[in-house]
Amino acid sequence: MRTLTTIFTYSFVLLLVACQPTEQSNNTNPETKEWSIALHGGAGAVSKDMPEERQQAYMESLEEALTIGAEILENGGSALDAIEKTVNYLEDNELYNAGKGAVFTSEGTNELDAAIMDGSNLNAGAVTGVTTVKNPISLARKVMTESRHVFFAAEGAETFADQVDVERVDPEYFYTESRYRSLQRALEREKQESSNLLETPEEKAWKYGTVGAVAKDKDGNLAAATSTGGMTNKKFGRVGDVPIIGSGTYANDQVAVSATGWGEKIMLSVSAHTLAAHYKYEGNDLKASMNYLVNEVLNPGDAGFIAVDKYGVFSMRTNTGSMFRAAIDSEGNKDVGIWED
Ligand code: ASP
Repeated sequence: MRTLTTIFTYSFVLLLVACQPTEQSNNTNPETKEWSIALHGGAGAVSKDMPEERQQAYMESLEEALTIGAEILENGGSALDAIEKTVNYLEDNELYNAGKGAVFTSEGTNELDAAIMDGSNLNAGAVTGVTTVKNPISLARKVMTESRHVFFAAEGAETFADQVDVERVDPEYFYTESRYRSLQRALEREKQESSNLLETPEEKAWKYGTVGAVAKDKDGNLAAATSTGGMTNKKFGRVGDVPIIGSGTYANDQVAVSATGWGEKIMLSVSAHTLAAHYKYEGNDLKASMNYLVNEVLNPGDAGFIAVDKYGVFSMRTNTGSMFRAAIDSEGNKDVGIWED
């Protein structure tokens, strides 16, 4: 009799559990935005005295990049397409430290890193040390969709690029005079410890300039992408946070994250995944998770992040003083800015 009662009680409890919604579904929550996108063009410490013209150039390019992604999402396109095309635009713009505007290594070369992650199936693709691919984020996407692997490095990434359809360029394409001058100054500073060659405001602003985008599409899928030249004067074979899944780039079915800043710090705290874990286990509150990452996990001056969650809520925060950034959602909530508020 006791066994029968126990079985009955268990069945009743199971029935009750089965009738509960397990999670707020994307498409039934009235608060959920149909789509949402956020992007960054690097965190740093830009002086508020930045020339008006330059400020305008940044603001215009951020708006343009945002429009590219927003249009794709509004027309029902995928989060992956939206972030790839948005990042492609930023990679082609030499204001940013990615693609065309990549910074120089200590050896005077440009070695690019990128990663993309599809939150709907937890698949990802990443490349590091790429020297002839115009848009590394597109190569990373092909690693994700056209290979059995997740991460290709240096010559291996170039060999993979030979086998797929991506635009190639002569390494000279990545030469820009201002980035080259920054390298010369960095080398000079390194040589003379007592050097009075301080970083120029421009160098400070550009110290980190990685680009990234995160989005939620109308199907409720989330995705994240990050692309960078790394850090000026980086040494032989240095790999930053960007292509390391979970550090600079991460997406699942709850949240999509892209980082910028001091790669070594971001990497050591597995930042993007830390945000995702906090979000999942601490109540699905993106603002609180971002706060935790930026203020409790990392130190002032370390990094900035953008994120979008399953409800289409976006968040963009830095502890460096400034971060080129922009975001918009299907309801017209919008934010474009440079300095920390
Ligand atoms: N996080 C990048 C790196 O360390 C740099 C940046 O964000 O600009 O490679």
